[in-house]
Amino acid sequence: MDREFWNKEIETLDRKRLEELQLERLNDTLARAKKSEFYRNRIPERVESLAELQDIPFTTKDDLRKSFPFGMVAVDPSELVRVHSSSGTTGQATVIYHTRKDIENWADLVARCMYMTGVRKNDVFQNMMGYGLFTGGLGLHYGSEKLGSLTIPASSGNSKRQIMLMKNFNTTVVHITPSYALHLYTIMLDEGIDPRRDLKLKIAFLGAEPYTEETRKRLEELYGFDAFNSYGLSEMNGPGVAFECRNKDGMHLWEDHYIIEVIDPVTGEVLRDGEEGELVLTTLMREGMPIIRYRTGDITRVYPEPCSCGRTHRRISRIKGRSDDMLIINGVNLYPMQIEKVLMGIPEVGNNYLIEIDKVGYLDRINVKVEVRPEIFKGDVRDLENLKHKIIEELKTNVLVKPHVILVEPNSLPKSEGKAVRVIDKRKSQEV
Ligand code: AMP
Ligand code: ZN
Repeated sequence: MDREFWNKEIETLDRKRLEELQLERLNDTLARAKKSEFYRNRIPERVESLAELQDIPFTTKDDLRKSFPFGMVAVDPSELVRVHSSSGTTGQATVIYHTRKDIENWADLVARCMYMTGVRKNDVFQNMMGYGLFTGGLGLHYGSEKLGSLTIPASSGNSKRQIMLMKNFNTTVVHITPSYALHLYTIMLDEGIDPRRDLKLKIAFLGAEPYTEETRKRLEELYGFDAFNSYGLSEMNGPGVAFECRNKDGMHLWEDHYIIEVIDPVTGEVLRDGEEGELVLTTLMREGMPIIRYRTGDITRVYPEPCSCGRTHRRISRIKGRSDDMLIINGVNLYPMQIEKVLMGIPEVGNNYLIEIDKVGYLDRINVKVEVRPEIFKGDVRDLENLKHKIIEELKTNVLVKPHVILVEPNSLPKSEGKAVRVIDKRKSQEV
């Protein structure tokens, strides 16, 4: 029978032993990191317990930027074999260096994630994430090859070619951003392709950007695949940090490679499991560029309960957004995902939307532009009016702000082939 785990011993390691391993690896990490200019005087030689980690200051994205190019590198630069950079969703990009061993470890983690969702050697994996400095391309690529699947380095964009590749190679597994998957479906419709009927897709990895459970369900229905949430960030390698198992209920974050903390983003206080806050991660295996107590900016919580799949590594919840994504609309706090949740739960709503915020006098105004399904758009005007009211009512109830809703034609909003831009905040440029 097919084995169930990529690495059963590590994935199901008893919690006590897992924590002992973490302490041992944390001390190795401290010793390595001390060789970098940035950490030299910032961290102790060693700690006696994991709790002592809390006495070490956080590392921020700004620290990474300031230590460019080699301030955080802990090995001789000749040992480095790869550089990646974050996509710069917020401000200037940050740069991460890897040694050969780092790349091997990363590939193994990704293979572990893929295997956990059911991918096997005989699968055909089409990677529709950008190849290049962005980690979504090469990161999954090496993991998939390590697992042994036939790997198609399709990269992002060129939708017609993506569809052709899927057909020609009988692709069974895809890696794609949720926003691009929504868009790609509309292209398939235009091409007369019904993915459930004409393609062999079984599994999708969706990640690199926040999205909602409603979007996952919608995509699973449209494509007929099982979609798994994939979380990662360049600073911690990229994809492969946390992934859903077949239970699809929270993402196992690999605690043999990372220490998890969740903090109050304002006070920095460490929160208990179950409490929502900003995820802070420490690398345990990194050679080239160890990072200690990195503030990811991502809002999540740790599940206190163990998972029935038998893996002992704790799960984090779907990322609600980044702490800097939070919008304040006339004093009400709001994450764009709360709007997406409402929109993607309404069947008449199409596959794309855009949130624009501006100021009218002293008040903030939120405009939600929503693409409508083609059959509704071409139908009765009264249906469109009703739909608009339905969206406004549901947003008022669930998000507590009254938006201005504009229904637009299918395929008329800016399309995403990578990470989507969901919000345009014009308030800053309106300030005088
Ligand atoms: P980058 O380093 O450019 O790949 O960007 C990493 C960031 O993308 C993370 O810090 C998250 O904000 C976001 N991200 C990645 N995967 C997910 C996911 N599955 N859900 C929500 N946000 C994600
Ligand atoms: Zn599980």
